[in-house]
Amino acid sequence: MSRFFSSTHSSLIPYTPGEQPKDKKYIKLNTNESPYPPSDLVCERVELECKRLMLYPDPDCCILREKLAEKLGVDKDEVVVTNGSDEILNFAFLAFSDSEHPVVFPDLTYGFYSVFAKLYNLPYEEIPLDENFNIRVEDYIGINKNIFIPNPNAPTGIALPLSDIEKIVASNPESVVVIDEAYVAFGAESAVKLIDKYDNLIVTRTFSKSRSMAGGRLGFGVGNRELMSDINTLRYSTNPYNINRLTMEAGIAVLDSDEYYLDNCERIVKTREKTGDLLKKMGFQVLDSKANFLFAKSDKISGKELYEKLRERGILVRHFEKPRIKDFNRITVGTEDEMNTLVSVISEILKER
Ligand SMILES: *Cc1c(COP(=O)(O)O)cnc(C)c1O
Repeated sequence: MSRFFSSTHSSLIPYTPGEQPKDKKYIKLNTNESPYPPSDLVCERVELECKRLMLYPDPDCCILREKLAEKLGVDKDEVVVTNGSDEILNFAFLAFSDSEHPVVFPDLTYGFYSVFAKLYNLPYEEIPLDENFNIRVEDYIGINKNIFIPNPNAPTGIALPLSDIEKIVASNPESVVVIDEAYVAFGAESAVKLIDKYDNLIVTRTFSKSRSMAGGRLGFGVGNRELMSDINTLRYSTNPYNINRLTMEAGIAVLDSDEYYLDNCERIVKTREKTGDLLKKMGFQVLDSKANFLFAKSDKISGKELYEKLRERGILVRHFEKPRIKDFNRITVGTEDEMNTLVSVISEILKER
């Protein structure tokens, strides 16, 4: 730390992204990326767009927003596109909370929420999941605080039904409820259809996972137009060109390649179910995932040891050193082949003991 770093920030503990090691080639099941490449159309359009890189991108992202809005069945003024969904989450923390409007989110959830809350010095509360790692809906009814909930939740993968989400949104009319749908394409119900009914709901999504674009950084928020206008005030006050030309073209091409991506999602869901069953047969406890990852533990081996032994053998998974979940690993669903390798390597590791 330099002696110039503001004391406001000097105690910040930044978010730790999953590792991207370069020492050898791993089967990467640690950051919930898609195992499948972008569509050919995406690659073709991005290549053409290179020739226009000397020009600034459209700060309004008109074409992309129009196409997105049409797919979602909303108006384009109800959509804001951002540099990954991390950016819309950042804006949502910045926009609506202060000392009188605290924030709540589950105790086991996306690690970035507490980082944002601390960054902006917001009062926040982490609401414990129940003993089966479910979000207890009752805890959020009429809580009168701004709420962030991923649906499905991470790292558990467990989803809430839309009726529960609606109860939470309806019972907190004076607070903003953000539903983070980073993984919704893998089996949960989306809350987008509620945005016209409730003026306090924001749904966030990303192209990173289901649209094979983690490296392109594209996310978006959907909500009532006043809420989106507030987000745009912040966006134009920080970086109006938050979506670069290549990413914008890629995003548009993704929306023109729906079938390809829906097939991939279907494949990932099938692989998830199959891998989950195989792990259960080996004695693992596997939570009921509606995401593109599995959260699993075995009584035969600690979470940390399994993580380390897999790493030695060239497979990366994500291990969290938090007391309640330290015996679990979060395993991204890769290709069928990758998961078969995972299962046989785990079975070797267990046999060696
Ligand atoms: C991956 C993830 C995000 C953000 O991903 P981006 O790549 O920034 O779009 C947001 N929320 C959850 C729960 C995630 O797992």
